[in-house]
Amino acid sequence: MGDLIKRAAQDLIESRYAIALTGAGISTESGIPDFRGPSGVWTKNPQAERKAYQSYQGFLADPKKWWEERLRGVSLLGDLEKAEPNAGHYALVELETMGLLKCVITQNVDALHEKAGSVNVIEYHGSVLKLRCVDCGSRFKREEYTLERLRTEGALPPRCPKCRGVIKTDGVAFGEPIPKDVARRSLEEARKCDLMLICGTSAVVYPFADLPRLARERKDGVLETIIIEINADPTPLTEGKISDYLIRGKTGEILPRLVETIRRIRDR
Ligand code: NAD
Ligand code: ZN
Repeated sequence: MGDLIKRAAQDLIESRYAIALTGAGISTESGIPDFRGPSGVWTKNPQAERKAYQSYQGFLADPKKWWEERLRGVSLLGDLEKAEPNAGHYALVELETMGLLKCVITQNVDALHEKAGSVNVIEYHGSVLKLRCVDCGSRFKREEYTLERLRTEGALPPRCPKCRGVIKTDGVAFGEPIPKDVARRSLEEARKCDLMLICGTSAVVYPFADLPRLARERKDGVLETIIIEINADPTPLTEGKISDYLIRGKTGEILPRLVETIRRIRDR
């Protein structure tokens, strides 16, 4: 593994525009379960997965009922607002500070990259801390809305102050289109990068999982994109040779070692 970490360090140092893609795996060491790992929410409770797939249709059909159920229910992932970033999140902040990482595109809704201090973050599947108008796409901080009061007053769903559209949580549900702004920015980043560091994702959720393929296809004759995975297990990207190599293990251990190795090489 040490050799692969050295190789990744060298690749990052030589890169012109490196970005990171992250998934639920980078947050398991913060105590948030993933979906498809051995202790994942879906792995343990396949029925919850089936229910999650119906949620967006339920929202469209009856947003008032959807909100009422939402406010009554307990999140499958626990209380995300109490979670703290781990060494993996902080290592990505260091890479950004060193000028080696230009952007993080995350599938996570836990807001831990921002909490750790990463600056250029695209929340592809939204954030648990925000709400979003499904009509005009405006986002609002969750605390701007007194959801519990709206519920007791029978005034759900919340409405957008800009266009009166229906507001939902910012987290993108299964079957819900990716909001246009984050979809566009992510495509631009994937096309622009010459190195993609993919951390803790099973890479089976689309269209997110198209981003590495897009980066791989981009060929301008001069620069090839290097794609590195850091994951507990091989993924379809590993098996399909979309990634150049996999550093197998925990992001909370490998990412800090990667930062340390880069420092050593640079200090030489
Ligand atoms: P996933 O559950 O499908 O896959 C997680 C992957 O990470 C697995 O391959 C697993 O083996 C690996 N992994 C787990 N812990 C790891 C660690 N410490 N180090 C390295 N690898 C580790 O997750 P996904 O690909 O992100 O897709 C799930 C979807 O569900 C995402 O779209 C995301 O929006 C959502 N989700 C978010 C959170 C969160 O916000 N923290 C948590 C669960 C699910
Ligand atoms: Zn609106």
